[in-house]
Amino acid sequence: MAIVSSGAGRNTPRRQPAATPLLDAQQAPDETAARPEDGLRPKRLKDYFGQSELKQVLGIAVKAALSRGDALDHVLLYGPPGLGKTTMALVLAEELGVSCRITSAPALERPRDIVGLLMNLQPRDLLFIDEIHRLTRVAEELLYPAMEDRRLDLTVGKGSTARTRSLELPPFTLVGATTRAGSLSSPLRDRFGLIQRLEFYGQDDLESIVARTAGLLGIGLLPAACTQIAGCCRGTPRIANRLLRRVRDVASVQGATESIDALLVADALRLHRVDHRGLDASDRRLLALLLDQYGGGPVGLDTLAAALGDDPATLEAVVEPFLLQQGFLMRTPRGRVVTQAGRDHLQADLAA
Ligand code: ADP
Repeated sequence: MAIVSSGAGRNTPRRQPAATPLLDAQQAPDETAARPEDGLRPKRLKDYFGQSELKQVLGIAVKAALSRGDALDHVLLYGPPGLGKTTMALVLAEELGVSCRITSAPALERPRDIVGLLMNLQPRDLLFIDEIHRLTRVAEELLYPAMEDRRLDLTVGKGSTARTRSLELPPFTLVGATTRAGSLSSPLRDRFGLIQRLEFYGQDDLESIVARTAGLLGIGLLPAACTQIAGCCRGTPRIANRLLRRVRDVASVQGATESIDALLVADALRLHRVDHRGLDASDRRLLALLLDQYGGGPVGLDTLAAALGDDPATLEAVVEPFLLQQGFLMRTPRGRVVTQAGRDHLQADLAA
C-alpha cells in the first residue's frame, strides 16, 4: 500500500498513482508482504500506548496547528524499527483530519517520484517518508525549498537552455522516520520543527498492547500469558504482535485459542527460540561469536557483521539497540564488547 488515507471524514483510500512506490519492505520483511499489522494499528492518540513525552509534544503541536488552521510543522521520528513511527504518522493524520501518503526513501530514487508525490498533496496533508536517511541528494535538494518555503524548484530543459521554474505547493507536513538519525544530513535535519525519539516500551504498556491485539485477533489470553509475551518482546510492539500471532498458531493447533495460558506461550517461545528476556537466535549468535572467537571483544562492527554474514547497518540499527539497552553489549571506541551481564545470560541460557 503506497498511500494510506486516514482522514477523519475522508476515510476512502485515495487511488494510487501507478508510479508511486510501495512502502519499503526492508524495514520489516516479515510483516509488510501481507501487512497483517495494518489492522492492529491504533488510530487515535488515546489508543497509542506508551511514549508519553512523544504524545504530549505532538498532542500540543496538533492542537496548535488545528487552532491556527495551518499544517503541522515537519516531524522527524527516530528510533529502532517496530516502535510505532509509521503508526504515529497515521495517528497524526487522523487527529488532524487529513490524508497521509506513505512512501520510503529508497522508492524515491528518481526526481520525478518525489515531484509527483509533492504535486499531488492536498492542503495540510501528511507525507510520510520512511528510512529518510536514505534519500538521494537530488531528492533532498528538492525537499529543502518544499519544506521551508512550500516551493518546488523544477529544472526545465538541458544545458545552456535549462531554466528553473518554481511551483507553489500547498501547506503540508513531512513526517520523516529513521532508525539512524545520525545518518541524516544536517541541512535536512534542521528543516524539521519537531524531532522526537521513540523509546523502547515498558512492561505495562506492552501488556496493554498485547491485550489489545489479543482482543482484535479474537483470542483469549490469560493474564500470566499476556505478561509473559510482553516480557519477551524486546520492548517492541511489532515483536509483541508478531509473538502473539505465533502463540495463536500453536494455540490453534492445540485447539486452545479460547484460553491461552503461560505454558502454551512457553511452548511457542521455545519453538521460535526466543528466551525469557526476548533474545532470539541472532542475538545469541552475536554474543556467542564475540565471546567464543574474540574473547568478548572489542570487535569492530564491520568485522562482526562479516563474521555473522550480516549487513553492518542492520546489525547496528536492528540487532544491537536492544542488547545495548539490556546492558548485554557495550559500544566502545575500539569496538563492541560483551558485558558481564551478557556473559551470564548466555551461560544461563546454555545451561537451561
Ligand atoms: P515503525 O514504523 O517504528 O517500524 P510501526 O508503526 O510499523 O513501527 O509499528 C509496528 C506495529 O506495532 C504496528 O502495527 C502497531 O500495531 C504496533 N504499535 C506500534 N506502536 C504502538 C503503540 N504505541 N500502541 C499500540 N500498538 C503499537
